[in-house]
Amino acid sequence: VATKQKARVDPPGVLADRLRVGPGFRLVDVEPRSTPGFDGGNADGQAALARGGKRLSEFQERLFAEGRSGGHRSVLLIVQGMDTSGKGGIVRHVVGAVDPQGVRHQAFGAPTEEELQHDFLWRVRRALPRAGQIGVFDRSHYEDVVVVRVNELVPRSTWQERYAQINGFEQSLADDGTTLIKVLLQISPAEQRERLASRLARPEKHWKYDPSDVEARLRWDDYQEAYQAVLDRCSTPDAPWYVVPADRKWYVRWAVQQLLLDVLEGLDPQWPKASFDVAVEKARLAATPG
Ligand code: ATP
Ligand code: MG
Repeated sequence: VATKQKARVDPPGVLADRLRVGPGFRLVDVEPRSTPGFDGGNADGQAALARGGKRLSEFQERLFAEGRSGGHRSVLLIVQGMDTSGKGGIVRHVVGAVDPQGVRHQAFGAPTEEELQHDFLWRVRRALPRAGQIGVFDRSHYEDVVVVRVNELVPRSTWQERYAQINGFEQSLADDGTTLIKVLLQISPAEQRERLASRLARPEKHWKYDPSDVEARLRWDDYQEAYQAVLDRCSTPDAPWYVVPADRKWYVRWAVQQLLLDVLEGLDPQWPKASFDVAVEKARLAATPG
């Protein structure tokens, strides 16, 4: 018989403080199977996610309404992580709870020839959320200091300069009214092996498997080092990084949802006031035939 005890969970603001990267943060200290701020299991997590989805949806609609009425604020969720860390699941199960009209989603793969002819932020600038929208980046400009650094796709001096360029870029977004939430989904190598194996085991999952994922696995420590450098250099007051343990899918989804909720609660968008006289419009409508 299951116990009826309710899971003890951190409120969004407390969870955000817990997961935010501060000075001296070390990625190696993160335990990917842990569930900080959530004292409960899978079923509790799923239930909490469903409840949070309703709240998220209402906040998103208010933000969207604000944007339609002259507001300039937006939110940008940047999701990074090793292959199979659950980036797609965040899009589907967290962002999927809100009206797609209010979402600007973009996945970033290896750059096209056209993209390579521009600076690395060019394709990112074109994918930014508009006023009232929640932007979601599945990978981002951080690939340009992670996969690019690990595989030496550009000279060292080029990627070295990018950290400062990223900070300047993100600061300008924040100054223009975009609240950034940057999350690193931290999966363990053992969990990734299982997820890749299950992709290989099922024909309907083969399309998700990429032989190059094995190469990235072989460079695991180099990727961790590149991510540590990102956390050291690009976690700023206006654009902080959050590291979320990602071996448990239900947890990572709940946690990222709470981070979004924390930001939206802080923005506290309000339903716009009518730009017309409501009583007059009621009377006019009542006077129409049919
Ligand atoms: P999953 O996690 O489910 O495997 P994915 O995010 O890996 O999905 P893919 O389309 O398979 O999606 O992979 C995108 C690939 O593009 C990744 O290997 C990533 O490292 C690579 N990539 C993204 N941006 C850049 C970049 N600027 N330079 C080089 N490679 C990049
Ligand atoms: Mg992939």
